[in-house]
Amino acid sequence: MSEASYHGSCQCQAVSFDATLDLDHTVTCNCSRCQKLGSVLSFTPAGKFRLEKGAEALTEYRFNTKKIAHQFCKICGIEPFAYGVGPDGAAVVAVNVNCLDGVEPRALKSTHYDGRSL
Ligand SMILES: [Zn+2]
Repeated sequence: MSEASYHGSCQCQAVSFDATLDLDHTVTCNCSRCQKLGSVLSFTPAGKFRLEKGAEALTEYRFNTKKIAHQFCKICGIEPFAYGVGPDGAAVVAVNVNCLDGVEPRALKSTHYDGRSL
């Protein structure tokens, strides 16, 4: 486990954030949303995530079980992260690794998650 600090943003920079993430453990998913977005996700405790700016630019979207609050920028349409709850009930943030500065998401060895079958 190797955690490091990252900065990320949506495309238009209206939304930006800092997060401590372990990019040795990322997830891709084939659910009806992740597949279309091409998301590469890194889950981290809510305490290791800080929204730097852009709360007013974020729009929330929920689907299926409605448990995950997908956040996307209403200006440029990019989803930089989502709020959720982990198996132990603790608040987590699913950061879209595609939105991080200086990271090549497709070079990561992500675990594929079969969200479509749930
Ligand atoms: Zn934006």
